[in-house]
Amino acid sequence: MKVLLAGEIDAEWRRELAAAMPEATWLDAGEADAALVANPPPGALAGQPRLRLIQSLWAGVDRLLADPTLPAGVPIARMVDPAMSAAMAETALWATLSLHRGFFAYAQAQREAVWRVHAQRRADEVGVLVLGQGEMGRAAAERIAQQGYPVRGWRRSRRHDDTPLPALLADAAIVINLLPLTAETRGLLDAGFFARMAPGSAIVNLGRGAHLVEADLLDALDRGHLRHAVLDVFQTEPLPAVHAFWRHPSVTVLPHAAALTDARSASAGAAANLRAARDGRPLAHRVDRARGY
Ligand code: NDP
Repeated sequence: MKVLLAGEIDAEWRRELAAAMPEATWLDAGEADAALVANPPPGALAGQPRLRLIQSLWAGVDRLLADPTLPAGVPIARMVDPAMSAAMAETALWATLSLHRGFFAYAQAQREAVWRVHAQRRADEVGVLVLGQGEMGRAAAERIAQQGYPVRGWRRSRRHDDTPLPALLADAAIVINLLPLTAETRGLLDAGFFARMAPGSAIVNLGRGAHLVEADLLDALDRGHLRHAVLDVFQTEPLPAVHAFWRHPSVTVLPHAAALTDARSASAGAAANLRAARDGRPLAHRVDRARGY
């Protein structure tokens, strides 16, 4: 099987992929039976008439689907990697603990040499809402719930008895975004959304930068309606050095590092899907192009 590699696939990935699928021939150009992609430049898969699978090494496929030259009709699969889900759960838990116990405020106070103790609440008094209940959202919600926080989730396929989003927002002290970026979710975290969040609550964006209207967040923080924001993803990445988020006292910045794909475990999953495509067996983690995730 000839597999085209496109995008950010470094020497470690190539080593792990070759070990996971020694029978494959890996190409950087030319006609292939399948493509393995990591944030490929637009047009990277144009003129590939034989592809049986486009396997992403990234969990989010928003940029891939935005490429107008993406071959039509070829199945797309996204990365689901247990090591990445575990890492995401750790980041979500760290953000929750830090926001709940005021550790970001204490870090800021240290920089200013200010000795001031904040009130302490119990974990069961701090409601957490996780937007998205897929691989990432579920892993995060379970991990946080294990620490005693009341956790609620929000997803697309809501049942008729599920609580609507405004009521969920009003009840949460911490809102964690783990939605995929689609036409429906782009710009969801805007002024109207923040207005529905409880006064003094905090937002954690681990999804995609385009979920968030950055000026609206700055306004909500500066007015004191929101207490803090933990941001891993941004409209422009890397985050420009002049951006207000870097130095804002109520913003904690991560460099899109909430959960990296682990080349060791992810290569095994990618190889299993490539073999399934080769042998005509069902594929795992198919993307629904119309739905956008
Ligand atoms: P999944 O496809 O497994 O889950 C997506 C979830 O979002 C599902 O529960 C889905 O609902 C829900 N959803 C989708 N659209 C809507 C909508 N319009 N309204 C409400 N809920 C919606 O994705 P993953 O959990 O694997 O990943 C989620 C995202 O996390 C990725 O797309 C990526 O952008 C981001 N990510 C970020 C990383 C980082 O380092 N910062 C690393 C990895 C991923 P339903 O269950 O009903 O289908």
